[in-house]
Amino acid sequence: MLKIGVLSLQGGVAEHLKMLDQITGVSPLSVKKKEDFADLDGLILPGGESTTLGKLLNIFDLKDTIIDLAQRGLPIWGTCAGMILLAKEVDGEDSHLNLMDISVKRNGYGNQLASFKTMEVIPKIAEQEIPLVFIRAPYINQVSNNVQVLLELDSKIVAAEQNNLLATSFHPELAENLSVHQYFVNKVKASMTDALKIAK
Ligand code: GLN
Repeated sequence: MLKIGVLSLQGGVAEHLKMLDQITGVSPLSVKKKEDFADLDGLILPGGESTTLGKLLNIFDLKDTIIDLAQRGLPIWGTCAGMILLAKEVDGEDSHLNLMDISVKRNGYGNQLASFKTMEVIPKIAEQEIPLVFIRAPYINQVSNNVQVLLELDSKIVAAEQNNLLATSFHPELAENLSVHQYFVNKVKASMTDALKIAK
């Protein structure tokens, strides 16, 4: 079983766990204490409120743990506020985990009323259109060359990948479609195969 943790300090934890629960071969775990992170195969940083999440990461003393795992190649996926946590630059504010070479604009689409749902194809993730839910969403306004853009909507980057790191502005855990979760699970599987090859 693949152990995929969902950081459970605040935000959309239950929704991610519920999606992971529907994928065969995955054991979803809610992770909060340092020791919970010990044998994870993958980690999801959920949406919520990034300032609060950043403070809680400090209070629970989890920043170094997550940074260390990321540097050792653990696949980590940040959705919405989780993407803000991953970013190296947060539009005029202090960044949090400083892991991904992206610059993000918080609340880039405006306030809660500017939340919306749309249908899009994300070629690397799903050939069919899938529902994308944006809630007070950030977008990526700059990426380095080593970041692969997965989806751009109206000149705003809303999904990107950099090696073991995946970021989405939107909330696949709130849509009735498992494609992005399945994509992340496949990424976790691939990283374990790579690790085995290196160990041999
Ligand atoms: N606007 C929130 C923030 O800046 C993110 C919103 C979300 O995760 N749905 O942290």
